[in-house]
Amino acid sequence: MEEKTIYVAGLGLIGASLALGIKRGHPDYKVIGYNRSDKSREVALERGIVDEATSDFKEFAPLADIIILAVPIKQTIDFIKILANLDLKENVIITDAGSTKFEIVKAAEHYLKDKPIQFAGSHPMAGSHKSGAIAADVNLFENAYYIFSPSSLTKADTIPALQDLLSGLHARYVEIDAAEHDQVTSQISHFPHIIASSLMEQAGDFSESHEMTKHFAAGGFRDMTRIAESEPGMWTSILLTNSQAVLDRIENFKQRLDGISDLIKAKDEDAIWEFFNRGRQIRKNMEIHKRAGVDSFYDLYVDVPDEENVILEILELLRGTSLVNIRINEENREDINGILQISFKNERDLKRAEGLIRKHTNYRVYLN
Ligand code: NAD
Repeated sequence: MEEKTIYVAGLGLIGASLALGIKRGHPDYKVIGYNRSDKSREVALERGIVDEATSDFKEFAPLADIIILAVPIKQTIDFIKILANLDLKENVIITDAGSTKFEIVKAAEHYLKDKPIQFAGSHPMAGSHKSGAIAADVNLFENAYYIFSPSSLTKADTIPALQDLLSGLHARYVEIDAAEHDQVTSQISHFPHIIASSLMEQAGDFSESHEMTKHFAAGGFRDMTRIAESEPGMWTSILLTNSQAVLDRIENFKQRLDGISDLIKAKDEDAIWEFFNRGRQIRKNMEIHKRAGVDSFYDLYVDVPDEENVILEILELLRGTSLVNIRINEENREDINGILQISFKNERDLKRAEGLIRKHTNYRVYLN
């Protein structure tokens, strides 16, 4: 097999996890890395995430067959400008990892045009609140969507070559136009982050005059606001590089809030019922819980008594089944989330676990 040199610029959570996946799929490839700070560079070298590392972005670029820019969006665009003026390998493939795509693809088309360079945008749609090479995880992108956004510098074999490079991630590869990517993610990711942070701010202000707010906040409130703990810098650059789509979603939502206010003022019971019912039906039809997308897995809920060794008993039954996550929701028993929640990677594991628990225990088991 042909040996290649892969340059991962930015050994943070995403870059270092990508490097691990590349090594898993192609142990014969040489992976070299750039990182600005010493910490992640040292961690990446110590853990064998990269074979060599530099703090000078320009140093390794001319050696690479494929370059992955895994730095914040603004730096990604700055690095594209720098790459435009370097003497790179003929036909080098450049890609990125940024959470928005249109501005990056536009910058690549502008600065790299007329050069013997291939460019396709990428967005690995998984992450976590952790950062740095220390948090690198070879399984981070398993079953997650890995999006490619072609540019005018994408050739017929550019995306297949990237898919092959990244095969060790075990992700789900999808191609989508950069502008459409930014539209869709504004609705399902960027705007929800604004709502989560606004809700937290509102609850924070409110709790100053209503002391019990923080004690009662559980279950649904926690699910709605978990993403408010995300890294502020990343989300600032996302909003600033997808402004129009996000502003459209905000305007649209304001109208929806006005609509429900009017129904409440008018005491229109049927219309309010319809409002909740529509939301419920749309969520069911989207089958969100069934998809291992950005953040969703196959969840099993077990209503367990508060007794010694119950969790151990269940884990023992599930020995040999790979779990993605397990958590015990004790704060709130008002809904289905007040119990043991076990997440699986696929439906087969979920069904297997459901069968085992039903067969060997009397605990109530729910799938959603
Ligand atoms: P991170 O903070 O873990 O790492 C960022 C990397 O960029 C580090 O190596 C850091 O040293 C480097 N960096 C930061 N500022 C720099 C500068 N001014 N000059 C040079 N290098 C600089 O972040 P991450 O989560 O790995 O994010 C990297 C990219 O991946 C971003 O574009 C982000 O939008 C995208 N992304 C993140 C997630 C996520 O959930 N974390 C998911 C998908 C895509």
